[in-house]
Amino acid sequence: MARIHVLPDIVANKIAAGEVVERPASVVKELLENSIDAGATRVRIEVGGGGKRLIRIADDGCGMVEDDALLAFERHATSKLRDVGDLLSISTLGFRGEALPAIASVCRLMLETTAEGAETGTRVEINGGRMIKVTEEALPAGTTITIKNLFYNVPARRKFLRTDKTELAHVASLVTHYSLAHLDKSFQLVNENGTLLNVTPVASMRERVYQIFGSDTLSELVELDEVERELEVAPYPAAYAPGRAVEASLEEQPAKIRHTYQLRGFVSKPHIQKLNRNSIFVFVNNRLIRDRVALKGISSAYHNILPPGSFPFALLFLELPFEEVDVNVHPSKTEVRFRHQSFVHDFIRDVVRERLIGLKPVSSLPLPQSPGQPGAGLPYSEETGRLERVDEPRPVEVGGFALNPQAPPGGSFDFSESAPIDLQGGVPAERAEPSDAGGLPSAVPLPGGPHSRDRLIEDLPETLADVSQLRPLGQLQDSFIIAAGADGLWIIDQHVAHERILFEQVLASRGEGRAESQRLLMPIILTLKPDQQIAFDHTADELRANGFEIEPFGDRTVAVKAAPAALSPAEIETLLHEILETPERELREMSLDYLRKQMAATIACHAAIKVNMPLEPRKMRWLLDELAKTDCPMACPHGRPIALKYSLREILKAFHRI
Ligand code: ADP
Ligand code: MG
Repeated sequence: MARIHVLPDIVANKIAAGEVVERPASVVKELLENSIDAGATRVRIEVGGGGKRLIRIADDGCGMVEDDALLAFERHATSKLRDVGDLLSISTLGFRGEALPAIASVCRLMLETTAEGAETGTRVEINGGRMIKVTEEALPAGTTITIKNLFYNVPARRKFLRTDKTELAHVASLVTHYSLAHLDKSFQLVNENGTLLNVTPVASMRERVYQIFGSDTLSELVELDEVERELEVAPYPAAYAPGRAVEASLEEQPAKIRHTYQLRGFVSKPHIQKLNRNSIFVFVNNRLIRDRVALKGISSAYHNILPPGSFPFALLFLELPFEEVDVNVHPSKTEVRFRHQSFVHDFIRDVVRERLIGLKPVSSLPLPQSPGQPGAGLPYSEETGRLERVDEPRPVEVGGFALNPQAPPGGSFDFSESAPIDLQGGVPAERAEPSDAGGLPSAVPLPGGPHSRDRLIEDLPETLADVSQLRPLGQLQDSFIIAAGADGLWIIDQHVAHERILFEQVLASRGEGRAESQRLLMPIILTLKPDQQIAFDHTADELRANGFEIEPFGDRTVAVKAAPAALSPAEIETLLHEILETPERELREMSLDYLRKQMAATIACHAAIKVNMPLEPRKMRWLLDELAKTDCPMACPHGRPIALKYSLREILKAFHRI
């Protein structure tokens, strides 16, 4: 092995850049944090090519004198920390003194800065970490940093960047979130096409949410008014308290310290369901972070309110004493370590939960319990060790926003490539359905609709309940009858129910040789293809027995003169085509009994009332009475369920009454 040597700064900085600078949005993050730390009230961010070609951040903060402007690019040069004790109470966003030299090592950078009260400013130019030029210039107060061609000297990194649109979405998401955390500042984000975000100082977070997302989104959210909770802690050991003698602290039995935690923000109403955690944003002391303890607290709050696997939108701001959280966990400062994790978890859970329960959410569908979740009660975490691992890391800079198109005066922007937060989107179709059979009774639906040639179900499920006892309450979507029974709530598919009724009637009259027939005013003329002709020959007797009167009418043409009652002429034609489409081989193999049932089922299906048809209460009552008279009121001739039941027991369970 070669001898050990200390890496030159230029190499060390590039290594640091590997951790700090992942993509344009991470550069924007560092520079934005610096501007905020510098006390800026106005920050303007300009990007070109999604930030790959250009990033320029201009602020009106305190600026730097020339010496500082040069020092800023030295490794571990910072104005924000002095000694190790300061690490325990970091009030600024930056503190590592690492970002500027790391960024400067992977791009062409220009810093222009004028310190408060100074006559002239300084311009520094650096290429790939090498200082090119330092000049004195007349410049406006504050600091402007221009970054061109990010990763021009790190092709491996550049290859991993996504499309301009995606990178831009990451930048926009980031700026949006910082603007939510700093209400007293103006933020402007522009790209080559115009302004994407433009917010001015506001007094409340509600106003800022409105500025950014508009009133529609605001109405989907509930605000958490600031809530405080106190935590009593023993003072930290002397070793952590700089300036105190170790012996002194060992002798004293100091009184406990009270720490105050505060939480405020916005969470979505229960009907908003997200497919992933990308819409959850947690700020700790105004720093956007990713943290599984906080995430778990939020999902615990929505336990039994959102179905498992669905996530809310959340914008939470947690304030706590600096000693209570370690922000020095990762170079990008997006992770933190709470000193009292279960306190944080429970605090978030309780505040959000209480607010949601205050809304009196009505869940319209039974939410199936996922296995392993306690039925009642919330998942508690007295010991943090029990916290589930949240495996997918939540990408902090990811999560595009459908920004308010009316936001003054920013234009609308499509963030579709980076997991957009579509608050208007509502419930995705596949989420609206219960994901297991726990909530609704399971029936075994056959593939295919009533028109398909699925095998008939010969052994039908047993008759379950006295359907005639049901009290119809109304219709859902003009398609399903909602009925109250002694044992629960029933949902009856009106088409399938009527199909069952007619099927048994058709079969019974056919058996008794008195199939009801209607004479058609105008005969229906059908021209049969050769295979249809064969099928017709096979089924002619059975058709006749069911009330059809069909006569030959020239070459391969037949005239239908009469048909089963209750079928419209259009339905007669489609029904006949359907029957005659049955392949000859199938017909040959079919028992007569089976053919009979098949035909009865087809007739019933065509004659039955359809879905999307409003029914008067009298008609619903009649339908349920007739259904009760059938031999098998639980399944249609093809085996599809007729009724779903949500039992009283399941209802009681869902309301935590048992
Ligand atoms: P850190 O933010 O961790 O201190 P940086 O490398 O990001 O480290 O910045 C180094 C120093 O440069 C900061 O501590 C600050 O003094 C100075 N600085 C950076 N950006 C600005 C700015 N926009 N305005 C004023 N000073 C700045
Ligand atoms: Mg910094």
